[in-house]
Formats: sequence, C-alpha cells, structure tokens
Amino acid sequence: MNPLRVAIIGFGKIARDQHVPAMAATEGVELVAVADPVASLPGVPRAATLAELLRNGPEIDAVAICTPPQVRQPQAAIALAAGKHVLLEKPPGATVAEIAPLSAAAQAEGRTLFTAWHSRFAPAVEPARQLLAGRKINAVRIIWKEDVRVWHPGQAWIFAAGGLGVFDPGINALSILTRILPQPLFVTSADLAFPANREAPIAAHLTFSDAQGLKIAAEFDFRQTGPQTWDIEIETDGGPVSFSQGGRKLRVGDQQHVDAAKAEYPTLYRRFRELAARGESDVDLTPLQLVADAFLLGRRRTVEPFED
Ligand code: NAP
Repeated sequence: MNPLRVAIIGFGKIARDQHVPAMAATEGVELVAVADPVASLPGVPRAATLAELLRNGPEIDAVAICTPPQVRQPQAAIALAAGKHVLLEKPPGATVAEIAPLSAAAQAEGRTLFTAWHSRFAPAVEPARQLLAGRKINAVRIIWKEDVRVWHPGQAWIFAAGGLGVFDPGINALSILTRILPQPLFVTSADLAFPANREAPIAAHLTFSDAQGLKIAAEFDFRQTGPQTWDIEIETDGGPVSFSQGGRKLRVGDQQHVDAAKAEYPTLYRRFRELAARGESDVDLTPLQLVADAFLLGRRRTVEPFED
C-alpha cells in the first residue's frame, strides 16, 4: 500500500509536539511538506501558504490542518477542492455551521474529512465507554484547569474572537464526555469570565443535563499554576469512576483500571490513514456545539486583564 503523503498546514506547537512524531511512528503515513508563514522543519519542503504548496510543492494526498481555528475553513475548502483528504485539529472550526460545506465537499470529492478529537484517543476513554454502558450515571463533575502560559505561550489567537479561550482545552473534556456518555447532552447554564483586555473567556463554570435530568458540572480555568488538573469524576450506581490526567488514568471504585502512557496522536493517525484508504469521513461537531451553546447562554463577567 502506498503511504499517505501528508502536509501539515500551520507549523506551530501542536504540529511540532505531536503531529511530527506521531507521523514518524505511524506506518503508512509520511510527512512530505509543511505550509506556514514563517516556521519550517529542516529537510522538509516548505511553502508560506497552502495555495502555494498546492502550486509548487511536492505531491500530497492529505493535509493536517493545525492552524488557529479562525483561519481553518478556507484552508480545508481549498484542500478538498484539490482532491486532498483533510484532518482538522480540534476544534474543527471557529463556528459550527462552517463545517457543513466541508462535509459536502468531502462527500462530493470522495475524500476524507476527519474532525480529529485527540482526547478521545486517550487510553482510558474506550474502557470507560464500555464500562459506563452498563451502569446508571447519577452525576458528573469535570475539573479542567491548566496554565495557559505553559501550554499556549504567546498565542494571541487563543484570546481573540473565535479562539475559544479556556474552551480550547475545555473542549477536550467535552469531547471525552460526549464519547463516553452516548445520550444527547445540553448546556443548562454558563458563567464566563472574560479578561478586561481580551475577547475570549479565561475561565468558565458550566452545567449540563440530559433528557433524564442528569446533573453535570464543569469548571474550566486557564489560570492554574502548579499541578495541572484534567479530571472527570462520575458517580454511578456501581460506585465512583474517575478519569485523571486527561484520560491517561481510569479509576473504578478503589481499583486502578487503566494507567497507560498517552499515545493519542499515533492512534489518531492510524484512524486517519484508514479513513483515507476508504475515502470516508468522520465528522462529529457535538463538543463544538456545546461550546457554542455555552457562549449563547453564557453570563459574562469581566475579570482582571490577562498579560502573557
Ligand atoms: P500555534 O503554536 O499558534 O501554531 C499555529 C501555527 O499556524 C503558527 O505557526 C502560525 O504561524 C500558523 N498559521 C497561522 N495562520 C496561518 C495560515 N493562514 N497558514 C498557515 N499557517 C498559519 O498553535 P497550536 O498550539 O499549535 O494550536 C493549533 C491548533 O491545534 C489549535 O486549534 C489548538 O486547539 C490545537 N491543539 C493545540 C494543542 C497544544 O497543546 N498547544 C494541543 C492539541 C490541539 P504564526 O505564529 O506565524 O501566526
């Protein structure tokens, strides 16, 4: 089988930290080019834009779009129109509705559109999904708190309109939650803290529910220093189930059920390769819809300015 020749569009932190090593570790996937206004990778052909890459670069089969969400949609549209498979980093876009034309284009071209929710590939997610399928869930609490200066150093786009602010990491928790709880969930309240000098929230308190009145509470905060917290605690009729470290660990009652190294991106690239081989798409907008609804329903509080 010929390898899937991939170009990374937007060669920033996540491209370097995860996409490059994951592609190197995945059989049947090959990094052949990057497109970025400034950044480059020694030994790999580079263009300033996707359009230039498609004109003058090496042959590619697919693109992994790792630019900030505000500029993704036209890039994905150009790539699909050129007959390329498209992996969209999370969040898949800056708005919910911008994805529908991309799905239609992918279908028309017989190409793959993959909304790559990387946290769903964490080692505890599938075991938790299977375990919870046989239990009654009584309550859920999400605590997702990290230090924006560590994980997003100098990234102005994240606090600009469309950058999602604290929902950039928070949407990872929602991608896990909506994978392990199969029933539709909806936002019931949102309290959003906006720094006085920014256009996106730095913290959020949210509640969600389902048709049965399940109580789900979430705390997202970008101002956490010291130990970082990416936890989901679930009360079930069979006792407590808890995720920690973003889905690396799963505790069921007093038993450690999963404690594994994170290998989200290699699994994600295997999935992309399989989808591309079949020309099928995998598009799920549920986590982005919940975030959009939190903005719709959200009470806005202004908090102290944030400086990098
Ligand atoms: P980043 O470090 O700011 O990287 C984005 C890159 O895209 C930068 O090199 C930027 O160049 C480039 N870029 C901007 N506009 C472009 C355009 N029109 N064409 C080509 N390249 C362009 O951001 P990141 O942390 O990698 O995040 C990117 C995406 O990955 C986000 O959606 C984020 O949610 C997701 N993600 C991030 C992490 C993480 O830990 N950081 C984890 C998982 C997923 P300039 O800097 O020169 O503008």
